[in-house]
This record gives sequence, structure tokens and C-alpha cells, in this order.
Amino acid sequence: MSGEGVDAALVAERLAGVRSRLEAAGGGDVRIVAVTKGFGPDAVEAAVAAGLDDIGENYAQECVAKLETAHPIRRPRVHFIGRLQRNKVRRLAGVVDVWQTIDRPELGRELARRAPGARVLVEVNISGEAAKGGVEPAAAPRLVGELGELGLDVVGLMGIGPLAEPEAARPGFRLLRGLVDELGLAECSMGMSADLEVAVQEGSTMVRIGRALFGERPPRPGGG
Ligand SMILES: *Cc1c(COP(=O)(O)O)cnc(C)c1O
Repeated sequence: MSGEGVDAALVAERLAGVRSRLEAAGGGDVRIVAVTKGFGPDAVEAAVAAGLDDIGENYAQECVAKLETAHPIRRPRVHFIGRLQRNKVRRLAGVVDVWQTIDRPELGRELARRAPGARVLVEVNISGEAAKGGVEPAAAPRLVGELGELGLDVVGLMGIGPLAEPEAARPGFRLLRGLVDELGLAECSMGMSADLEVAVQEGSTMVRIGRALFGERPPRPGGG
């Protein structure tokens, strides 16, 4: 976590900028998940003070520590959006409300044990990059069914665009939205600071925004 303070007024100002980008792209009602990874508890407090109700975190230990020390004016919904290890589920279960990166049955089984009925999104690999997480698109319907049988509340799908120019994300976003519709799900979590316009044009219901709200992240110790 960063030692530097987050400027709440600046976050509010940047949020207005993000909202106008969303509106210009035709997505004025798209939910914004404020990605606070790399920043301290004050980023959570600033986001909530600015009017956001959803926080995204990537790293288990950082997530738990931050949410236990932050004192936002309202309790936000906490979305876990990072690579998830099975042995972290138990610790996270007390703070996470929405699990966006479920991509294999063993995670579902652990979650059903530690947080019965938990709200989840299935992460789908839409970039074709093997190193990235997410189930293959063709295997997504089956995983959605399996998680449902475990009693989990599968509300949608999540995807991460390739690290390239925004337009390169369009085919993957379109694929993800098609799967969401095919499966009759409500939520389509796609779009980040750089590619939110493309995501909204392709039917995102939830964008995950870090740098456009908080600025560049401080380097993470140990990389990543
Ligand atoms: C870090 C991260 C984000 C936010 O990325 P920005 O470019 O800072 O907006 C969104 N989604 C996931 C899965 C992330 O890891």
C-alpha cells in the first residue's frame, strides 16, 4: 500500500471526468467499481465520499488489511477482482461481497463452503493470452451451471481486455456480452480506465476503474 495520501477532492473531480466519459459513450447508468489496489484505506474513504458504493481489490492480504482499517462514511460493496487462490477464500470471505474472478470449479466448491450463496461472476479469458486467468469462452456456460448447482448466486461474467490499444479489446468485449446474453445473466463486468468507452459501446454494465480515479499506482513491492 502507498504511504502517500489520496486527495479526496481530486478523486471527486476525476470521478466527474469518468462519469462524463461514460455518458459520452452512452453508458450513463453503468456501475463504477473503484479499483483501490496499490493505495491505502484513504482511497476507499475518498471513493465512498465521492459517491461510489463499489470497491475493487486484487490482492487478498492487502484487501483484508485495507478494509479492516478504512472508515468510509458508508460501507461499500467489496469486489474481489484479482487472481484468486483457493487457500485465500476463507480469509476473504469476511470482507468480500462480490467475487468476480471465479474461473474453476474448485474455487466454487471452496466458496460454497466458506460463503454459501455468495454472489459471483465467472471470469472469462477474452484476450486469448494463456497467461491470463479466466475460463475459455466455450467452457463458460458449463462452469456457470456448476456454480449454480453449488448454490452460488452467479450474476454475470467478467473479462479483461488485452494490454494494447483500446480498440483491440472490442472483439473480446463483444464475445463476452454475447455469452452474458446467451446465459441470461444480468452483469457484464468489462472496461478499465483505458478502454471504458469500447466496453460501454459493447454493453458493459460495470466498469472497473483505478488509474482514472486515483492516478498512477505506486510500484508494487515484488512486482505485479
Ligand atoms: C487493476 C485492475 C483494474 C483497474 O485498472 P485501471 O487501468 O487502473 O483502471 C481493473 N480490473 C482489473 C481486473 C484489474 O486488475
